[in-house]
Amino acid sequence: MKAIRIHQVGGPEQMKLEEVETPRPAPGQVLVKIAASGVNFIDVYFRTGLYPAPTPFTPGMEAAGTVEAVGEGVTEFGVGDRVAYAMTRGSYAEYALVPAHSLVKVPDGLELETAAAAMLQGMTAHYLSHSTFPLNSEHTALIHAAAGGTGALLTQMAKMRGARVIATVGSASKAARARQAGADEVILYNEQDFEAETRRLTNGRGVDVVYDSVGASTFLKSLNCLRPRGMMVTFGNASGPVPAIEPLLLSSKGSLFLTRPTLTNYCASRDELLWRAGDVLSWVASGALKLEIYQTYELADAPQAHRDLEGRVSSGKLLLRIG
Ligand code: NDP
Repeated sequence: MKAIRIHQVGGPEQMKLEEVETPRPAPGQVLVKIAASGVNFIDVYFRTGLYPAPTPFTPGMEAAGTVEAVGEGVTEFGVGDRVAYAMTRGSYAEYALVPAHSLVKVPDGLELETAAAAMLQGMTAHYLSHSTFPLNSEHTALIHAAAGGTGALLTQMAKMRGARVIATVGSASKAARARQAGADEVILYNEQDFEAETRRLTNGRGVDVVYDSVGASTFLKSLNCLRPRGMMVTFGNASGPVPAIEPLLLSSKGSLFLTRPTLTNYCASRDELLWRAGDVLSWVASGALKLEIYQTYELADAPQAHRDLEGRVSSGKLLLRIG
């Protein structure tokens, strides 16, 4: 089968399309014939080595496709089932081995490409808005990079829960996309001081929660945007990892809460995974949640997809079409 392989961490050029042996499922595993793989920022972290993985490896943490074979003991899935998953590495390939407990069935009528585009960022937006800081109509949230794949879904879910959303984005065209997603206010954070703007837009009070996936370049200022006892959710490193801080900083800025969540910990049980994936896929199928596909690439063009994602060119979802 064809797969993207990384033998040495580094730039996008380190991703090579190679011919490798198609794997066979071990007990508890399912071999999925991949139709489409999502491209996510976490793939960049593995490629650069920020998140370590033994080399060589195939990147990609999200896909949808059909079941090609099942390992011993797998009863929930059979050959030909349409399935989707997130957070098992190796989806930039024609086939991938996935633990059966990480798979969900794709509802009839939903295209596999759409399911591949929704899983990882959709379930992330779901846990952030429903569990890490469960939003309601009394809350105001500051959402950074709100036109991005995750940001646009998080903005929509925050609005579904009735919260007020202040969004930040890197360009005027992204501002329009954030507004389409439902943002009440949009700040161009490359041109405007987002701390001063957030204070102004909340009459000096500050927001209840900041969802910050940008990391190093926004973290400290984001703390200044919170009301006393507000929650800082730092969930990504698009501009680099956040350096260490003293806990006393949180007290001096108003007894703040700080968390650094990951999707894996918020899909800790089969029930939790089925709840989040079920909500996301059914909302996409009904049109309640809108996915914007920025571009669909061939597997061989994975390096270009990474350049577009890292270069802040893209908004919405980047996909690899494989099967
Ligand atoms: P996005 O589509 O959001 O792309 C990243 C965006 O970040 C860019 O478009 C850009 O938007 C913004 N950005 C700001 N500064 C930089 C920079 N220096 N370099 C590159 N981009 C920058 O990607 P994803 O939706 O895939 O991921 C978004 C974030 O969410 C990532 O940090 C990712 O790690 C995190 N994440 C975390 C998860 C978790 O469970 N912890 C799960 C899923 C995603 P703009 O131009 O508007 O500034």
